Amino acid sequence: MRLLLIEDMPRLRDLLIESVHSAGWRIDAFATIAEAEEAVATTPYDLLLIDLGLPDGDGLDLVRAIRRQGRRTPILVMTARAAIDERIAGLDAGADDYLVKPFNHGEFLARCRALLRRSPETAPPLLTAGGLVFDPATGVLTCRGVETPLTPRERAIVEILMREVGRAVPKRKLEHALSEFGDDISTNAVELAVSRLRKKLTGIEPGASLETIRGLGYLLSEMKD
Ligand code: CA
Repeated sequence: MRLLLIEDMPRLRDLLIESVHSAGWRIDAFATIAEAEEAVATTPYDLLLIDLGLPDGDGLDLVRAIRRQGRRTPILVMTARAAIDERIAGLDAGADDYLVKPFNHGEFLARCRALLRRSPETAPPLLTAGGLVFDPATGVLTCRGVETPLTPRERAIVEILMREVGRAVPKRKLEHALSEFGDDISTNAVELAVSRLRKKLTGIEPGASLETIRGLGYLLSEMKD
């Protein structure tokens, strides 16, 4: 899952980035409408998190513009404007949900999950490999109905690998995903993460294999019987 955030308060922006990373989702954060508009036009996002009082305008104008362009990406508006008519204006402008600041971190993530799974057209399909099933909206990995705990970084890697089952994923793609978590990517950070994940995945699903292909990257495949 890839989220976009527009929030001009650096402290809150950092907290929200941390919160989203804890769910295993990726996030691009911006402080102005201009920067965010450009990103929305070029990157497919699964959820947009939009603050309203921004240095270069009103976030609601951006919400309206996105809907005018026919984009149906779920939008969560986050603002201190708490009056009932302001909430109505936000939803009528095209937001799918409205969260009044200050809000609770747990509620914020629950609303994100709800928006990510809400519409059948925008909800991401479940990813499978053998008996492994990963839900990108919730970050939950199960094998034959049993949930396997994953760290946020493992969730990000599992999602990338499971989108490409049967195809090699370049190492730099995983490096990039880990670096988004603010990690200092040493040469073997990816190897280490993959090796831990391999133990976890093949431990619960012997029919899955996660191979290192020298010079190419990593390959998650399911054995057919
Ligand atoms: Ca603001």
